[in-house]
Order: sequence, then C-alpha cells, then structure tokens
Amino acid sequence: MPENTQTHAGDAFENLLHEERRFPPSETFGAQAIGKADLYEAGKDGPEFWAMQARDLLTWHEDFTQALDWSEAPFAKWFVGGKVNAAYNALDRHVEEGRGDRVAIHFEGEPGDTRSYTYAELTTAVKKAANAFESLGVSKGDRVAVYLPMIPEAVITMLACARIGAVHSVVFGGFSADALRSRIDDAEAKLVVTSDGTYRRGKPSSLKPAVDGALERPGHTVENVVVVKRNGEPVEWTEGLDVWWDDVVGPASEEHTAEGHDSEHPLFILYTSGTTGKPKGILHTTGGFLTQTAFTQKYTFDLHPESDVFWCTADIGWVTGHSYVAYSPLVNGATQLMYEGTPDTPHQGRWWELVEKYKVSILYTAPTAIRTFMKWGRDIPKKFDLSSIRVLGSVGEPINPEAWMWYREVIGGNNAPIVDTWWQTETGAHMISPLPGVTACKPGSAQVAMPGIAVDVVDEMGKSVPNGSGGYLVVREPWPSMLRGIWGDPERFKETYWSRFENMYFAGDGAKRDEDGDIWLLGRVDDVMNVSGHRLSTTEIESALVSHPSVAEAAVVGATDETTGEAVVAFVILRGSAAQDDDVVTTLRNHVGKEIGPIAKPRNILVVPELPKTRSGKIMRRLLKDVAEGREVGDATTLSDPTIMQQIAASLRK
Ligand code: ATP
Ligand code: MG
Repeated sequence: MPENTQTHAGDAFENLLHEERRFPPSETFGAQAIGKADLYEAGKDGPEFWAMQARDLLTWHEDFTQALDWSEAPFAKWFVGGKVNAAYNALDRHVEEGRGDRVAIHFEGEPGDTRSYTYAELTTAVKKAANAFESLGVSKGDRVAVYLPMIPEAVITMLACARIGAVHSVVFGGFSADALRSRIDDAEAKLVVTSDGTYRRGKPSSLKPAVDGALERPGHTVENVVVVKRNGEPVEWTEGLDVWWDDVVGPASEEHTAEGHDSEHPLFILYTSGTTGKPKGILHTTGGFLTQTAFTQKYTFDLHPESDVFWCTADIGWVTGHSYVAYSPLVNGATQLMYEGTPDTPHQGRWWELVEKYKVSILYTAPTAIRTFMKWGRDIPKKFDLSSIRVLGSVGEPINPEAWMWYREVIGGNNAPIVDTWWQTETGAHMISPLPGVTACKPGSAQVAMPGIAVDVVDEMGKSVPNGSGGYLVVREPWPSMLRGIWGDPERFKETYWSRFENMYFAGDGAKRDEDGDIWLLGRVDDVMNVSGHRLSTTEIESALVSHPSVAEAAVVGATDETTGEAVVAFVILRGSAAQDDDVVTTLRNHVGKEIGPIAKPRNILVVPELPKTRSGKIMRRLLKDVAEGREVGDATTLSDPTIMQQIAASLRK
C-alpha cells in the first residue's frame, strides 16, 4: 500500500485544472432574455417558488392544496391534491388558446422525407392514439413499453399514454431482444408499441424482430403489439397479438377528453444508461416532472416559443428525449425539430444542413457529438448558414473546455451562450446550468444551481467544502422532478441515493467548487483514481488530453498498480496524421504533466480506434478498467456497438 492513502476531508478530489476564460452574455442578449438574476432570489422560497411556477407554467384540472409533502422522506409528494393531464398541457390548451396553427414538430427522416405537425394536428393524432390504445384494453395505471425510432409516432405514443394515465416505459431502439424482454417483465407491460424498423446510415434497419424475439418465450404480460409502418420492410406477424398502427389508430375517433390525473400519478419508468452498473428503472410522476421540465426548458434556453426553433438531438430512449423532446417543448408551446437518423448520413454536414433549413435557434446536444464533429473538422459546419443559432446546450457528460470553445466558435458564431446542463435520469430536469442571460459562462463548467434547487458539494463527512475544493455532489432539498423511486424496489432507492449522507440526495458524481463558487463536474465517484494518495478526476485528465491537437477523444481509468495503489491509464483516439507519429505517447504524457502536474501523467496511453459508449453517448469507463486490469469485460448490454470491445482488444494486441 502506498503510505498516504487517507483522504483529506474537504479535499475529496484534488482540484488541478485551471480555466480562466469567461464569456458574459452580450448586452443585446441580456436585455431580451426572459430569465433575470432576480429568479435566484425568488428560488430561495423553495416549495413556494415551485408552487408559483407550477401554476404559471401548467393548466391544472384542479388546483393543489400543498406544494410539498416530505413527511415520508425520501418519498416526496409534490403539488398535493392537484389534478393535471400532461397531454392536455402539451396539446389541447394550445389549440384552445389560439395556437393551434403553430408548428409543434418538424420531422425529418433520414432518407429526407419530411412531415410537420401543427399543435392542432398533433392534438388530433394523440387523441386518436389514446382512443386506439383504450380500444386495446389499456387503461389508467397500465404499463406500455415503447420500442420506437425517432419518428413522430414516438412522441404521439408517449403523450397518448400520458393522456389516459398509462405509464410508458421507453426502451432504446438499439437494445437487444433480451434487454427489451427484461424491461417488459420488470414493468409487466400490457402493450408494446414498435415499428417495422427505421433508417440507419442510409439503409433500412429493423426493430420488429427484436420484439418478436422478446416475446418468443411465454410467460410475459403483453396482450398486443402495435406496429408503425416506417420502412416497409417485411415483418413476421403473430395473429391475435400484432396489430398495425394504421389499422387501429387510423379509424379511431378524433374525440377524446383528457381527464385530470393526480399530480403524483406515475408518468413513466425509464432505465438509466448503465455506465456504473445494472440500469435502474427510475419512476417519475406527473405534476412535479412537468413543472420543472417546463421551467428549465424556458429559462435555461431562454425560450421564446413564438419565434424559436428548438432542437434537442437526444433519442427518446433516454431521459433527455423525455424531458426535452416529448414533454417540455410542447408544454411550453414551442416549435421543435425531430430528426430520425445519424449525423453522417448522407454526409457529415447533415445536422448543419438541418439547422440552416429549419432555422434552428436553440441546439441541445451531447459532448460526444461535439467531439465527433471536431474530429470531422470545422470546414464541414462552415459550409452552412448557422446564423439562426442563438443558444447552445450541452448534456450527458462533462464538456471538455476545448470542445466547449469549438462549439462556441464554430457552431455558435462566437456569440451564442453555451449552457452546460448537469442532471440525471433521476433528477428529471436540469439541476445545474448557467442562465444564458445572466451567467458569465466558463468553458467546461456547469456553474450554478438552477433557481429553486439546493445543490452542494460536500466532503466525506457531508460538510460543505470551501471554494477551491472538491468533493461529492449532493442535493440538499427535494425538487419537483425528482425520481419517486426505483420501480418495484424501494429499498434500492433508499440505499443508492439516500444512505451515503444523512438527509441529502447523493448523485454519485464528484465535483469541485472553484474560487468563485462555481461548480465543475469531475466524473463519477466510482471512476475517481487514487494515485499515491492523490485523488484524481478522470474528467480533468481527459480534458487535458483532448486539449492536445493530436487527440480527438480520450477516456481515463485507474488500474491497480503495485507502487502507486492505482495508476492512470488513458485510452485515446488520435486525429488524422497523429497516428503516424512514433513519439505521440511521450508527447501526450508530457502534455498532461504540463497541463495538470506530474502526478497525473498516465502510466500507459493506449491508442484505440473507438471508445465504448452507451447509446446515449457516454463513455463506459468500467469496461475500459476491465481491459486496463486484464480482466474479462463486464456487462456490456447497453453499449451502442457491442463489437467495440473486441475491436479495442484486437487493436491492443497489434
Ligand atoms: P447509470 O446510473 O446506470 O450508471 P447514467 O448515470 O449514465 O447510468 P444518466 O442518468 O443518463 O445515466 O446520466 C446521468 C449522469 O450523466 C450524471 O450522473 C453525470 O455523471 C453525467 N452528466 C450528465 N450531464 C452532465 C454534465 N452537464 N456535466 C457532467 N456530467 C454530466
Ligand atoms: Mg447514474
């Protein structure tokens, strides 16, 4: 054992990387922004503040009598006694209030086919789907598994479920039959909604066979499978079980009255992405989820629903696609873009072509996508008119300062504020983010808690750390869109989030507070490395590597080491000609030493063709740790490409 492995309370993570650049909002932006600094003051009222937002942003069938009931902590009840319908708030009320002709969704398929839905049209589509699902025996409280690509029917299905009070459980279209079956079983789903398939990289790709595979083994709870025709590929058909969407939704009535559901009525179950272990089935309920997602979509992105075109690139299979595609943009009455395919089909400028075509003004995406675009080069986005963009958002992982700067310069025209939003499936909505009209943004930092949210960074003992120190990210007060539990497992809920510190929600992420009190995310607590008693963050070392021109992407893990306890092992993807450079490994080790300090120099730097990522784009460090320590790799079922681990192994044998 190295001699000083004890951790210093108050310095659970060492604070190493320094970033001095600051980007305050321009005067013009600040003047028109809807979120002002006084929101923070108002947010200090906690539940009262949220009660005000709930009444301001939503239309309630019946008003609530109490903002928060925390008497059975950690099981929260928000907006007690209130009755509300998510679909009514996303649809009908806009039509009733004269916004029926506004476009709700511009859809662009990968092959280039397009469809637009106004609010009036989308309302009708959802009413028909609600009637169709009811005709198949689905009623309030039943669970519906959704296994669909990024097509409007995905949103229509989710809202139709919400309308009738059925609980949707969306499963990524890329997941296997087994993964789908285990989620169907866990939720005891009565209905599955899927499609024949989708288009992926210019080719039809199928979905229905995975559903067939999932339901092959008897003993499941599914009574019907509704199949959307998307790519027209032939499918196997089980009479009595399978029904075409067009046959059941097509003839359904256009009349459907939305009933108010209890504020705490379950809205959906969604599984976490599985970067730290077995995915958890997170449960969200109605009133609180709608309130905080609508609030954050409005203020984090400075949404002007009458003029903005919002594009969140997330798949509906992960939480960002729930909160910021299916629900909040529609609840706020905005116009949004939905794109089916991959960013490089038919060419690497597809996204920028879409931004130009639809005049996207708010773009919300993940660091993994930004790093991919950096790898492809700035000449590609430069060919398109991106001048409509006025706010940029990032989510999913810490954004490396170099990627942040590239995003700002190349996509944001050196002008659009970037909001780096920290949150989780469990939190339901943004928890930490700059406000674009208020905050002077810092590349790489999520910075400040949202108004009304009590985020803190604490040491091992649960004490707040002073500015300049690192520790564990926690939430000190309940928030409206917090998870209500893990489906069917209340003990795991308490154990995972509420047992590490007393009366605090433990997020599982490391963070630091800089000298200004701004928050920087440092990666998963599970990923922290202890090198000769120094606790180092994966994020900072990865950011240092990515700041070198030879590196496109980097993932860092700690591997057991006889002398130092743990050693830093880095996996890097090189850019262009850097692969021919024999000294690249030495150069990069020295670069990290210079940027951070000698202690952070990787023991090994392994050049790989790709990194293992989840379908939501997060790097799965635990699999790389298995490689670094020479073990067999663990559960890789949520990887976007299951062959990646073999490719990495093969490249390392060379
Ligand atoms: P699992 O819990 O099964 O391992 P997961 O945590 O990857 O899955 P999500 O809920 O989608 O699934 O991801 C939430 C996590 O993503 C956060 O805990 C954090 O680590 C990371 N994250 C999200 N946004 C940011 C951000 N802006 N900056 C830094 N990290 C972020
Ligand atoms: Mg998690």
